[in-house]
Amino acid sequence: MQTIHILKSWGKVLLGHTPMLSIEVTRECPLRCPGCYAFGSDHLGGEMTLRELADKRGDDLVNGVLDLVDRHKPLHVTLVGGEPMVRHRELGRILPELSRRGIFSMVVTSGILPIPYPWIELPRLTVAVSIDGLPEHHNVRRHPATYERILGNLAGRTVNIHLTITAQMFTRPGYFEEYARFWSARPEVRHIWVSLYSPQQGEQSAERLSPAQREMLAAELPRLHRLYPKLLTSAGYVRALLHPPASPADCTFSRLSKNYSADLRTHVEPCVFGGNPDCSQCGCSASAGAQWVSGMRLAGPLKVRHLMHGSMAVGSAVAHLQDAARPAWIERIEGSAKPDRALVQISMD
Ligand code: SF4
Ligand code: SF4
Repeated sequence: MQTIHILKSWGKVLLGHTPMLSIEVTRECPLRCPGCYAFGSDHLGGEMTLRELADKRGDDLVNGVLDLVDRHKPLHVTLVGGEPMVRHRELGRILPELSRRGIFSMVVTSGILPIPYPWIELPRLTVAVSIDGLPEHHNVRRHPATYERILGNLAGRTVNIHLTITAQMFTRPGYFEEYARFWSARPEVRHIWVSLYSPQQGEQSAERLSPAQREMLAAELPRLHRLYPKLLTSAGYVRALLHPPASPADCTFSRLSKNYSADLRTHVEPCVFGGNPDCSQCGCSASAGAQWVSGMRLAGPLKVRHLMHGSMAVGSAVAHLQDAARPAWIERIEGSAKPDRALVQISMD
């Protein structure tokens, strides 16, 4: 997430829209990854799991996704699963339409299926492939989406790689540098994103990072970023990653996004993880990116976060900004369009 996206997101909020939409487009996935939150028993609140949900396909899925987009008018749409590529035919209709409308989109996949070549040409589309560690871990955790299979499916495409760091990866010195070196050298890779495993409240899994492991990453990830610029782990980002929001109410990402599961009606709350996430241990890259940018100063002591979280009586904040010193970035976001005052009385609580 770039600064301009956060600022445009704020513009969307002012207009009563939802800047970020995440949709689980299918309940199906051929993988069985340990620690997968999407198939966790509490992901959808406990009454039903993703596997039990009546998902959609064909025209119902295409029209249902576009209906959600019409309703929320997002800046960015993330399409996840399950494994979204099992609905590649429907995505092949949805993604060009999102691109045509000027909406940024992202497909998050295990890389189990080849990415259609025409997608790579689509403006504003990012395909993110989850590669969780070196082959000794990844090939076990994410079988059958092994390194060999993924490399074959990526040939000739351009993608971002997403690494979720788990406790099991701290096996030997140099592990993360080996990962960064390997994927940085691949011509298919534009950027490498890093998340930390994000547990639920009270979870004591083998994936959960210890305080010492988190501490080690504070120095290691920025060092690797300097050596391998494709790895997007600057010092500011890593600080945000290691100091997550205290609760969903403090989480900029959670407050700027809406998340739907595979029936296109069930909400995933309070964020993409669903259930009862332990925000104090959150390592979500999207949340960290939003947190990092929202901590940036706009003017004097005023930070982006203050505008977003200030009172949540957005209308009064806007009225103040419109009538008083109006930051230049507001003008850039809005262009010639003036926010409708009747629409800004929204609350993000
Ligand atoms: S590929 Fe994704 S959705 Fe499928 S089991 Fe693994 S983590 Fe879960
Ligand atoms: S993204 Fe992280 S910090 Fe935000 S609500 Fe979810 S678990 Fe909490």
